[in-house]
Amino acid sequence: MLDTLFRPKSVAVIGASSKELSIGNRIIKNLIDFGFKGAIYPINPKADEIRGLKAYKSILDCPENIDVVHMVIPAQFVPQAVGDCGKKGVKHIIINSGGFSETGPEGEAIEKDFLAQAQKYGIRMFGPNCQGIINSDPAIRAYCNFTFTKPDPGFISIVALSGGVAELIHQGFSEMGVGTRIYASNGNACDVTIPEIIRYLGDDDGTRVIVTYVEGLRDPATFMEVAQEVAARKPVLAMKAGRTQEGAQAAASHTGGLAREDIATDLIFKKAGVLTFMDEGELIQAAAAFASQPIPRGNRVGIITNTGGPAVIATDVLVAAGLEIPPLSAKTKALLTEKLYLEASVSNPVDVLATGTAEHYRACMDAMMADEQFDGIFINFVTPFFVDNESIAREMVAVSQQQKKPIVCNLMTDKRQWTEVVRILQEGGVPCYSLPGAAARAMTALVRYHKIRSREIGELPNFADTDPAQGEEIIGRARATGRRNLTAAEVYEILSAYNIPVADWRLAANAAEAEKAAAAIGYPVVVKADAPSIVHKSDIGGVVVDLPDGPAVREAVAQMEKNLAAADLRFFIQQYLPGGLELIMGAKAEEGLGHTVMFGLGGIYVEIMQDVSFNLTPVTSTEAQEMLSAIKGAPLLRGVRGQKGVEQARLRELIQRLSQLVTDLPAIREMDLNPIIAYEDRVFVVDARISL
Ligand code: ADP
Ligand code: MG
Repeated sequence: MLDTLFRPKSVAVIGASSKELSIGNRIIKNLIDFGFKGAIYPINPKADEIRGLKAYKSILDCPENIDVVHMVIPAQFVPQAVGDCGKKGVKHIIINSGGFSETGPEGEAIEKDFLAQAQKYGIRMFGPNCQGIINSDPAIRAYCNFTFTKPDPGFISIVALSGGVAELIHQGFSEMGVGTRIYASNGNACDVTIPEIIRYLGDDDGTRVIVTYVEGLRDPATFMEVAQEVAARKPVLAMKAGRTQEGAQAAASHTGGLAREDIATDLIFKKAGVLTFMDEGELIQAAAAFASQPIPRGNRVGIITNTGGPAVIATDVLVAAGLEIPPLSAKTKALLTEKLYLEASVSNPVDVLATGTAEHYRACMDAMMADEQFDGIFINFVTPFFVDNESIAREMVAVSQQQKKPIVCNLMTDKRQWTEVVRILQEGGVPCYSLPGAAARAMTALVRYHKIRSREIGELPNFADTDPAQGEEIIGRARATGRRNLTAAEVYEILSAYNIPVADWRLAANAAEAEKAAAAIGYPVVVKADAPSIVHKSDIGGVVVDLPDGPAVREAVAQMEKNLAAADLRFFIQQYLPGGLELIMGAKAEEGLGHTVMFGLGGIYVEIMQDVSFNLTPVTSTEAQEMLSAIKGAPLLRGVRGQKGVEQARLRELIQRLSQLVTDLPAIREMDLNPIIAYEDRVFVVDARISL
């Protein structure tokens, strides 16, 4: 469906202008200058000719069918013009003009209006308030955009709502001499969405890597589904901005997005297998490597250099990122000892010396490509005046084009002097960087994608011993009375319906009942105040633990009756569980998506250290294990210094039961189990809250 948009045979510009410095003129100039392979039709009721092309009074006068129309006219004229395009049989309209939903209710009404027209005629709308698209495919050469960066044909496609950032990324590639393929920036995205474009790019054989920039996801569920599917086939690189509260506000003010701290987007990226970046430079540099290099099969890097220090910097960056710099195999060592200069350093990194020749570089590259020890090659290349640098560059290109293992190159040169070397490397598709750290981070990104592609997704069990109907009934009852917080009894019943183990409990209205309940549970017990108005029980003296007998229970109840002025005060009597490890689990509904699930150290730790990890429902077994391993306190789970650990299978199961619970009961807005008391072989929830 989007094929006609990205591969148009004819483009008309409604609002084409003779004025040089106008968008209606610029788009025509761009189409002509970029060598558009199709027909261009300026539409302007007052002009006969624009930039040497015959102009038409109305879209209806165009002699041919039109695939794509640009609209560069004031917002209020757009609905009518869309109707005309419908009559003409136009397939796609790119609205460059602003003045729609981004400006407020009036603009929003116009947007609705033209969308209705478009739907009537089956036209797909791109934008409004957007730049448009570019396709540098030599068979198309469509520059349906008013910007000025003219790409060489390449394999990277860029998609973002924000025209500013899409262009910034585009310029980054241009600066590196790296070509791009499809570019799409759709502003308000009232119809054609980012996930839809990503799906198209996933199917586009000419696109090897997809780069996107996100400030907030409009439709997280669809994004997730599409990204997961596409990222399994080709790398999807994303940058999420608006990470700080201030940044989120800035983003909200120009996209109408949400100004809140956003854990969910990162979790979506992670679950979908999208490679994320915090830094736009790093994103661009990584994409350049993906554009021309194969994906490595592991994390072991061989380093070749002709100057020592920069290879040390690269080593540090690679190792810090979890990559390995293994020694050369005996065979490689013997081979290179024979081929290189006597003074050369034959280990990893290999230093061929500044006097190292093209043959020396080639011998190293060939040896490392053949050596099972390595998954990729990092080259540091300074261009001394006394060697044939162009030949060295040509050898790199030749080896890179074999596409056996990825190569990245830190090129230390004066680009104005060594233009031929730069040209050979760029045209040959060797990703070159101006700093060893940058090249090392690009290699790291390749390895990260390898890990994503080879990861085990894990199992998604469907616990059959659960009773969703009971959960629904309890929630239904609470809702009928307008309550948003469930009572302790309701919460514990839901947990039991999902076979989540809870400490034995009873409710009591007074001291006598409490004593009876305690005797039934067995001493020692805990007494907790229970009333709709009480949230943090221990803060107000509403929790007394380790009560050994009846008199102690009665005394605790009496104290609470005296000190707590809560209406409907009741008492929650619970089995006392000493000496376990306190953990927390929780879940929170995310708009347009399931729930985030949290795990961490409980009790006071969660407040002071915030040692928690997150994932999205449904949580697989692998993800549940990752959540356990991700916290700083993970060693406590395994057991330290004679203290027993906790059986992790129990915890994984608990996380997955919680995931299933909130998935079955989406009305749950927030839920936390804090603490869960964990022993070596058993766990019990001793405090839980659910809000709707
Ligand atoms: P709240 O979170 O409302 O203050 P909790 O029920 O979580 O109340 O109790 C506070 C603390 O008391 C818990 O973090 C835990 O350390 C301890 N505690 C509560 N119930 C038990 C129990 N059944 N066995 C052992 N310790 C408990
Ligand atoms: Mg608690």
